[in-house]
Amino acid sequence: MATNDNNKFQAVIAHAKEYGFVFQSSEIYDGLSAVYDYGPWGSELKKNIRDYWWKSMTQLHENIVGIDAAIFMHPTTWKASGHVDNFSDPMIDNKDSKKRYRVDHLIEAHAETLPKEDAESLLASMDRLLSGDDFTGLKQLIEDNKIKCAISGTGNWTDIRQFNLMFKTEFGAVASENEGDNMVYLRPETAQGIFVNFLNVQKTARMKIPFGIAQTGKAFRNEIVARQFIFRMREFEQMEMQFFVRPGTEGEWYKYWKQERLQWHLSLGMPAEKYRYHDHVKLAHYAKEACDIEFEFPIGFKEVEGIHSRGDFDLSQHQLYSKKKLQYYDNDIDAATGKPYGNYVPYVVETSIGLDRMFLSVLSNAYEEEAIPKEDGSSDSRTVLRIPAKIAPVKLAILPLTKKDGLPEIARDIMRNCQDEFYCFYEEKDTIGKRYRRMDAIGTPFCITVDHQTKEDNTVTIRYRDTMTQERLPIDKVKELVKEKIR
Ligand code: ATP
Repeated sequence: MATNDNNKFQAVIAHAKEYGFVFQSSEIYDGLSAVYDYGPWGSELKKNIRDYWWKSMTQLHENIVGIDAAIFMHPTTWKASGHVDNFSDPMIDNKDSKKRYRVDHLIEAHAETLPKEDAESLLASMDRLLSGDDFTGLKQLIEDNKIKCAISGTGNWTDIRQFNLMFKTEFGAVASENEGDNMVYLRPETAQGIFVNFLNVQKTARMKIPFGIAQTGKAFRNEIVARQFIFRMREFEQMEMQFFVRPGTEGEWYKYWKQERLQWHLSLGMPAEKYRYHDHVKLAHYAKEACDIEFEFPIGFKEVEGIHSRGDFDLSQHQLYSKKKLQYYDNDIDAATGKPYGNYVPYVVETSIGLDRMFLSVLSNAYEEEAIPKEDGSSDSRTVLRIPAKIAPVKLAILPLTKKDGLPEIARDIMRNCQDEFYCFYEEKDTIGKRYRRMDAIGTPFCITVDHQTKEDNTVTIRYRDTMTQERLPIDKVKELVKEKIR
């Protein structure tokens, strides 16, 4: 058993790599910091979580439709949204060499020269000050630790200033005379693709307020603190939904979505005691209410999703910058005046969840190193991923007991019959015990074994991952049983 939380976190990371869930990006070139690739079982699990979110948002809500907007957007989008001016992290310059450093990089480089405990303590202080936006404290930390510029060798530092987190790139092949003319950003959130398409969607899908637009997709942030595996990445995926409502009703919709979103996590089979709300006290100037849904990761309770009541800030800003009206005509009758509500810029309640963070919550919740008592009094152990069956990467493993006597053929027939309904995995190598352990380690909820008795009575043994209990089942009941359990 892992002895403390950080050990468990490290064990989950190691397991994720060993069993094909998550790899460091470009690992053969020593990796790229805070960028990760999903392997065979990771990409399947990630897809299943995304599909579960997408279905619950769109298919199961008549008044929510989806879009798939581009990652590149007109650069003015990010001026209107406030990201150009406000989406930033701290930087510091050395006055002698004129070299500019990101504060975290400078401190991290220094930490690498220290003994392990001192380094950890320095990094912990840095993380605390960064998360509190305490620039004076950070500069003090740099001075107290006598951190010097590698070029000038001096500790003659400017004050700390902000650095924008958006990645920039060049658009098109023709070089422009004016630097910056062709510059575009990689989107730091998916939400703006929804706002700028508000009227396109409302008109073409004939939506009536209140209604929502959902989207999943990649977002990019040049994150400053990026040392927590897939918790904080520079390229990640978001699942966002913007719900457009009549001004004055945003309070009730905010309450509704706050509750509904927590319920979604629980409906997946995640444990209620590992969730809590964190209501924001310090709000952005335009925000009416905001909260995080926090999950208890092995490294503590941390945000996995945000619910934000944003007023008409986003649509009004885009209206201002684009000079195009982003309004809705509401012909419902206002009881107070007896007249239609008429034209207005709708208010927005947003739900925004990180797919990778959700993945990490599922994986770390599922991971267990379990002792198994044996009949002779000794004990064995196994590592099992108790991933909720409906999102497990592989649902059913089909295992012929031996490679001969026609057992593989029967197993293949079962596979053919089931694989169009759910993900199946066929394996005939190694002892059955070893095969069960491998399936436990990737979270496969059901294994069936085809043995000699199968040839006599058309039954197989089904083994349940969580309890390790086994029972005989007619072959023609297998598909229905698994379908029922993964609904
Ligand atoms: P944090 O405070 O952790 O930086 P945030 O408040 O900036 O997150 P939002 O902008 O509200 O996050 O984004 C919504 C969701 O996107 C977050 O709840 C989180 O799940 C996810 N997310 C944000 N940044 C990252 C990242 N760098 N890596 C992975 N997921 C992220």
